[in-house]
Amino acid sequence: MKPKLVLHICCAPDEAYAVDLLKDSYELHCFFCNPNIFPKKEYELRLNEAKKCATIYGVPFTCDDYIPELWTKAVSGLTHTQEGGTRCRACFLLRLCRTAEVCAGLGWPAFGTVMSVSPHKNVLALDETGNLSAVKYGVSYVPFNLKKKDGFRKSIELSHKLGLYRQNYCGCELSYWECKCRDRW
Ligand code: SF4
Repeated sequence: MKPKLVLHICCAPDEAYAVDLLKDSYELHCFFCNPNIFPKKEYELRLNEAKKCATIYGVPFTCDDYIPELWTKAVSGLTHTQEGGTRCRACFLLRLCRTAEVCAGLGWPAFGTVMSVSPHKNVLALDETGNLSAVKYGVSYVPFNLKKKDGFRKSIELSHKLGLYRQNYCGCELSYWECKCRDRW
């Protein structure tokens, strides 16, 4: 019997690569929890694509309620910091804590996240916040460095093959405007 793992999902392209890689080693349950995503229309688009991906792979999928105020509160006082810094750490902690809580509620022993596919995500910060969340809810955090072995490029290829939407900014309103500024200059 395969070990059970709740997999936190941030978007369909990262989900596709991670599920493709892990499905033979784990019994997976995908959990979409992203109060950071702005605006709501984008949230709904990413959620629907993530559901589509789970259906393609035949993996159970649930999503959390969309409460963007939770993200606003979590990054309060950190909005001046750059992507990749302390505001992202707070954002990881928010989403992984909730994933750990859901994992404990399901009675499953462990959880992980697909966020490490992105080259912009700090794996040390992900693992630190994942472990803190696990301790809080009495479950285990399984670290995956999915950007290794060319994971990001492979996730792009796989998402194209499966016809999945691929976003061009991380998710929050700050990253949305940071992306717009980068495009302009
Ligand atoms: S850039 Fe991404 S990880 Fe960082 S706070 Fe925004 S949504 Fe969260």
